[in-house]
Amino acid sequence: MSLTSWQERAGQLRPDGRLLIDGLRRDSTDGRTFDKRSPVDGRLLGAVARAQAADVDRAVASARAAFDDGRWSRQPPAARKKVLQKFADGLLAATDELALLETLDMGKPIRFSRSVDVPAAARCIAWYAEAIDKVYDEIAPTGPSALALITREPMGVVGAIVPWNYPMIMAAWKLGPALAAGNCVVLKPSEKSPYTAMRMAEIALEAGLPPGVFNVVPGFGHEAGEALALHPDVDAIGFTGSTRVGRRMLAYAGESNLKRVYNELGGKSAFLVFPDFDDLDRAAETAAASMYFNQGESCNAPSRLLVHEAIADDFVARVARHAPAYAPGDPLDETTVMGAVVDEGQLRTVMGYIASGREEGARCVAGGRQARADSGGYYVEPTLFDQVRSDMRIAREEIFGPVLSVIRFRDEAHAIALANDSAYGLQASVWSSHIDRAHRVARALRAGTVHVNQYDEDDITVPFGGYKQSGNGRDKSLHAFDKYTELKTTWLRI
Ligand code: NAD
Repeated sequence: MSLTSWQERAGQLRPDGRLLIDGLRRDSTDGRTFDKRSPVDGRLLGAVARAQAADVDRAVASARAAFDDGRWSRQPPAARKKVLQKFADGLLAATDELALLETLDMGKPIRFSRSVDVPAAARCIAWYAEAIDKVYDEIAPTGPSALALITREPMGVVGAIVPWNYPMIMAAWKLGPALAAGNCVVLKPSEKSPYTAMRMAEIALEAGLPPGVFNVVPGFGHEAGEALALHPDVDAIGFTGSTRVGRRMLAYAGESNLKRVYNELGGKSAFLVFPDFDDLDRAAETAAASMYFNQGESCNAPSRLLVHEAIADDFVARVARHAPAYAPGDPLDETTVMGAVVDEGQLRTVMGYIASGREEGARCVAGGRQARADSGGYYVEPTLFDQVRSDMRIAREEIFGPVLSVIRFRDEAHAIALANDSAYGLQASVWSSHIDRAHRVARALRAGTVHVNQYDEDDITVPFGGYKQSGNGRDKSLHAFDKYTELKTTWLRI
């Protein structure tokens, strides 16, 4: 589709911003809404229902009723599988519509919302649909006069609270395992990207998901999010977002019913380049591509580039040569690879970090400025800082924008110490042509995922989550079922 036709379709779009509870679109109880503008060009997308505690109560009550009467939770796995497969097919059939909504909502290029976000969300739902009737329960090896059955049961009502950087994928990572295991879900999308979640719920209903099984309450974190996380009738919270709010999630659970809390939080991932690696240009290209993808708004972006001092000047020059390829463009143009950051607040945050990098003495060798200001949207140049020290704010704090910081190391031990000198531990990557070094360093890194000589491999079959303050859960893979199921032991006398 050409730029004009994406623009035309964008102009015709009138997204429905109402809540979805018990299978019905409705206004919030007190009729409150908030205006949602697009970071692409500042256009008003519409008024979105601003859910309050009363709306969350209704959504949780609807999910509880659906769970208790067994319309979903007691369906045979094969029956749940059929509905979820149709749900995944429905997402794919709506690719263009969902991709456009996602792009307008949060600013990522249309080519990626079409080729990455919608297919990955659909594949996630389809994968858990496929998995659910292949997971067997266990019998424990006890004595001869008794059988101990170890079975998994759905948790009940799951609250899913998700961020704006990959709205559909983050929702799918919660919905896939939670729904497949038989739970009912209340989803709170980010106020910065509410629309695709509500369309996903409509598509799920059309696929045959019974009303009440998947409810959506758009709104703000301190209102709808807090009400959901504090709700005494919610059994588990699947949260993806900042470490700051992840702390609140644990407090809410402590203050309410000790619901299970699974936190998937921020990152400051290290990308370690050793001088023995034999294809430095591939490493440099991958560092730039992985950092600037999604405008740098990825929890696992390799935002700390750790380079051996002997090759640092050469390597920094190579990354700087690749950076301009990610210059921001119109997200509705299919050739654009970097779009808009999510809103004006995020633009200010990112520009503030760039200023702090300069003030603290780092050297800006690429980018560093706002871009496309006349578009009415929020764009930042792909930015590269050299001569960064580990104690600078740009090295320690998650920026969540297209800013890459280079820190130089002396030797392997120094590289490992720098990489682990972070409150976060989501992902890391080691680049070395020596297999012993690659293994040694990969083992020493305190991160949930470590890549060797690449950064971009990803699949729904592998767990994703962090060490330290990057979280306590794992999304994706069969391990995600652990979050949304209770283990029950049943003793039988025989
Ligand atoms: P955020 O923590 O500000 O918000 C996340 C969600 O929580 C939103 O829906 C928000 O409305 C809600 N929320 C905010 N305050 C709340 C409160 N007091 N009570 C209840 N809910 C509240 O994060 P964000 O800015 O939307 O997303 C960016 C963050 O998400 C980054 O830190 C990023 O690293 C992280 N992230 C992590 C992963 C992962 O898998 N580990 C994936 C994507 C994003």
